[in-house]
Amino acid sequence: MNEPKNPSEIAREALKRLAARQLSPTPANYQACYNEIANLPNIVPFPEAPLRHVAMALKAHNAEQENFLGQLDVAIGKRSWQGIEEALVAFANAGSFRPEPIALAVAAATVPSGLPVSLADRLARLVESVMPALGDESGRVSVAAHDLLDVLRKNPADVPALQAILNTFSLQASFAAEEQAEIKESLLGLLHLIIANIGELSIDDRWLKGQVDGLLAAVSPPLTLRHLDEMGRRLRDVMEKQSEAKSRAVEAQEEMRQMLSAFIERLGTMNESSETFQGRIEEGARQIEQVKRIEDLAPLLRDVISATRTMAEETASSREQLKALQVKVQATEAELVQLHMELDSASAMARHDPLTDALNRKGLDEALAREIASMRRKETPLSVSLLDIDNFKCLNDQYGHEAGDQALIHLANVARRNMRPSDTLARYGGEEFVILMPDTKLENGIEAMTRLQRELTKAFYLSSKEKILITFSAGVAQLSCDEDGYDAIKRADKAMYFAKRAGKNRVIGG
Ligand code: GH3
Ligand code: MG
Ligand code: MG
Repeated sequence: MNEPKNPSEIAREALKRLAARQLSPTPANYQACYNEIANLPNIVPFPEAPLRHVAMALKAHNAEQENFLGQLDVAIGKRSWQGIEEALVAFANAGSFRPEPIALAVAAATVPSGLPVSLADRLARLVESVMPALGDESGRVSVAAHDLLDVLRKNPADVPALQAILNTFSLQASFAAEEQAEIKESLLGLLHLIIANIGELSIDDRWLKGQVDGLLAAVSPPLTLRHLDEMGRRLRDVMEKQSEAKSRAVEAQEEMRQMLSAFIERLGTMNESSETFQGRIEEGARQIEQVKRIEDLAPLLRDVISATRTMAEETASSREQLKALQVKVQATEAELVQLHMELDSASAMARHDPLTDALNRKGLDEALAREIASMRRKETPLSVSLLDIDNFKCLNDQYGHEAGDQALIHLANVARRNMRPSDTLARYGGEEFVILMPDTKLENGIEAMTRLQRELTKAFYLSSKEKILITFSAGVAQLSCDEDGYDAIKRADKAMYFAKRAGKNRVIGG
């Protein structure tokens, strides 16, 4: 057992121990060594100041952490190690776990990163391909596009620069697009004027009316390629027929002119012969005055009678000739009227069946070629249907040919009302029709024809107040990509034949 030491000895020994243990000479270390030597319990004072220093250094990143810092403050004030521990653990958890998803997303979005090369490349190609559509009058879009392409082709693309130039480009592009829309609108206006003028200039506006009306209806927005195509074809028709009509009318007019000059010539000779007649009569009258004897009168009277007869004969033949001329003029006039009437219907008949106004074979040829080209270009399906009215011969026999014609018109009208505007109706033969259905797969084509069948049974058709129901059998075929249009129609025809065999009034896919 060590002897009890006095405080100064303890103090000296404590200093020695501090040095021997190589502890730093802080008051706390000195106190600990002193207590050890003096056999006193080592009570460490509460380190409030350093703890507050630590607490000050902690930064709250959210409301919860702020709250736990408050708790830490209180725990330090109460000198509660447990409170301090709890507050610190809670503070740490509130900061490290439960990352806020939105905050994270924002952080990810704002992480500076370059534009992916593939995206930049695609954007560049997009800009290049839309340029021709913008029809850059002022050249401003081209400049902006050029700058934009420069930035996009830099690797990696400079994102802030891209944003700025993209803004400029889209602004200029929107101006250019607006301008293009205006140009389109005024072009349509001009076309309208030109077409209306063709109607005015026509030698007989009646025969052109149908075509001009069709054209005016076609010249209305939206301006699609399909629309333009249709307009082009109609215009070519009109021009062809107009020049034909003009040359034939000019010929007929020349004929009339020649007849008129012959008539005037004839009038001249009539005048001449009447002058001769007058001379002969005057001479006769003078000689009659001088006649002394009655027997001398007889030869003179013979002369006068002969002159009168000649005159009468000539007048009669002139009248005959004039009559013949008049008949010829009337015939030529009638021919002109007939000519105009023929042209009238010829122009409408160029591509349309005059009875039903559906396309005729020629119109179908063109429409088929057009739809097949579009199918291949756009890689969309195209279906064709061939429909044949059931028992049409019976209808004709029972109600007459006129009623049969009305039934054909009725079917065409119902089909037009129920088909999509992009579908095409053509009269393929007597009571057979072909329907072209772009953007339509086989099953949808069958559905469409079945729907038409239903509509036809709903819409009775009246002949002399008698309700007549007409039905049809149809075959549908979807074109394969390299198939000829008429081969597909043949397949549809075969399917139609099966529909007839299966009992009529049905649709079968080929
Ligand atoms: P199916 O149900 O088998 O088709 O019998 P169908 O009687 O309809 O067929 P078919 O081919 O024997 O007869 C078609 C008839 O259509 C014969 C012809 O006189 C008539 N036809 C063809 N063109 C016209 C037309 O323009 N007007 C009228 N009224 N009849 C027409
Ligand atoms: Mg038939
Ligand atoms: Mg038939």
